[in-house]
Amino acid sequence: MMTRNLESRCILCMRKAVERQYCEYHYEALQSLKGHYEAWKKSYGEISWIEYLNRLQKISHTGKWVKQVIEIELKNEQKKR
Ligand SMILES: [Zn+2]
Repeated sequence: MMTRNLESRCILCMRKAVERQYCEYHYEALQSLKGHYEAWKKSYGEISWIEYLNRLQKISHTGKWVKQVIEIELKNEQKKR
């Protein structure tokens, strides 16, 4: 059997993954998170990635896709410790 089990799926929605463990939509959400992080640091001063994610997660108008990515990123950061 030549079935390819290696084709990766998005960790959040099972669409085909394009980058790391994310599909194009969730990867886009991650990129926009990172962009906002840089902007945030310029406006409000130094903040850690984790602290930034925690803050954003509490803001009610943060988008659904972005919040899903935040959850995964926070889990990843916890594993690193
Ligand atoms: Zn996805």
